[in-house]
Amino acid sequence: MSVPDAAGGDEMKQAKEIEDAEKFNFMATVTKAPKKQIQFADDMQEFTKFPTKSGRRSLSRSISQSSTDSYSSAASYTDSSDDEEGTPREKHQTNSKGSSNFCVKNIKQAEFGRREIEIAEQDMSALISLRKRAQGEKPLAGAKIVGCTHITAQTAVLIETLCALGAQCRWSACNIYSTQNEVAAALAEAGVAVFSWKGESEDDFWWCIDRCVNMDGWQPNMILDDGGDLTHWVYKKYPNVFKKIRGIVEESVTGVHRLYQLSKAGKLCVPAMNVNDSVTKQKFDNLYCCRESILDGLKRTTDVMFGGKQVVVCGYGEVGKGCCAALKALGAIVYITEIDPICALQACMDGFRVVKLNEVIRQMDVVITCTGNKNVVTREHLDRMKNSCIVCNMGHSNTEIDVTSLRTPELTWERVRSQVDHIIWPDGKRVVLLAEGRLLNLSCSTVPTFVLSITATTQALALIELYNAPEGRYKQDVYLLPKKMDEYVASLHLPSFDAHLTELTDDQAKYMGLNKNGPFKPNYYRY
Ligand code: NAD
Repeated sequence: MSVPDAAGGDEMKQAKEIEDAEKFNFMATVTKAPKKQIQFADDMQEFTKFPTKSGRRSLSRSISQSSTDSYSSAASYTDSSDDEEGTPREKHQTNSKGSSNFCVKNIKQAEFGRREIEIAEQDMSALISLRKRAQGEKPLAGAKIVGCTHITAQTAVLIETLCALGAQCRWSACNIYSTQNEVAAALAEAGVAVFSWKGESEDDFWWCIDRCVNMDGWQPNMILDDGGDLTHWVYKKYPNVFKKIRGIVEESVTGVHRLYQLSKAGKLCVPAMNVNDSVTKQKFDNLYCCRESILDGLKRTTDVMFGGKQVVVCGYGEVGKGCCAALKALGAIVYITEIDPICALQACMDGFRVVKLNEVIRQMDVVITCTGNKNVVTREHLDRMKNSCIVCNMGHSNTEIDVTSLRTPELTWERVRSQVDHIIWPDGKRVVLLAEGRLLNLSCSTVPTFVLSITATTQALALIELYNAPEGRYKQDVYLLPKKMDEYVASLHLPSFDAHLTELTDDQAKYMGLNKNGPFKPNYYRY
């Protein structure tokens, strides 16, 4: 067996770059800023720039997976009340100020949507505190942001924060199912040019994006994207717009992967910020969010009781660890499959049995995939499952379970509930497939607002930094958020818990070789 090279030349070089990056004094004044001041651009040095984990998604150039994955359907309370005839594109609507610069399902739902936004604000105190700190100062004055994200109460809090910081925004949805119609209406009523409704067709999807970008007398200078579809559209249809764009902020694995591909091909013509790989995003979105929402998704769809159930979780990365922690706490007997010996050993140390799927598939009550890979659960596995086995996916794409192999004449599909299919074998065996193999928590439950607050705060700070950066600070490349900014995002969320941080003494700081105001860890630290 060959032992891999422990630290090749490139890795050493990268470690040096990282070490150097640590010396920058990012955001020192932000963290220490007097309450009402935001001093982003002047105080921040260049973001740490080094390759980050790239996604494993394919770079489909058609409507992306994130655009079609159902998202948080339970989060919208207007599903049944807005089945009015006709597409919003054919309706002429105006808000109370007479503006028709938007396209939403029903502007009359604005008041209801406003209440949803106010509820979300309760758990998004970091964004609210950013607004307060900016008082008077408008770090985004003159920014014209075109955005393409899920349109939910939580993103509405982000959009309104950007507006409060001085930006003009035009917004569309990155997913054809995820828009909370009432929230889109509230944004339109507040004067945001929003083009989105739940249940768009693919044609509507691109039309909405186009309406955001293509407007006489208004040209965007910043892009906030989730999935890369907006960026792709601008590249394809309006390449000249990039002359004015100061930067792209991208949230998703898929979108970040696309940006790295562009960068590699020498086609990225503006700086881009990879929000997905920031520590706070990854730890909270992947680990803590999934720890909470796996149970929510499974219970809402199946009413399953977990105590004593045998569950196999494929992949013991961040998402897998979150799922396993929750399942174990409820008394489930959890098995893990892994390809990576380090993650497998972690699973062993956490008290889980590491197995091959083939070895246990016959006795499992629940099978959960969270690998980001493809064909992890094959037709052969599905054939061998016992009656009533529940199968679902927590990974980004719907490739982990070979659902296509189940669409054969000998098997019967029975839709028993929304997002729940029974697949029936000729001998009467039923397998319970959730969300047709798409992301379970985004399809069948809600995502905690607090988690979204962390990502949204990171997005807002990344936009402020890119917009205010002096010429030359960022090149045409993909940048990772600096540790200092991650720490700042975390610190903005600590007051929600009345958490009190210990401050280093001068002596301790000297002993540890740290700046008293951070960063507190090197970039290679893994948390
Ligand atoms: P990760 O890379 O930390 O973990 C994935 C793990 O799967 C790795 O340890 C890898 O070794 C393992 N793996 C890969 N192929 C495997 C196989 N064939 N069998 C068994 N194990 C295998 O990634 P992560 O952060 O845990 O994310 C996993 C997926 O979940 C990604 O697709 C990500 O986009 C998605 N995600 C979902 C949510 C959500 O809310 N559901 C949130 C964040 C991320």
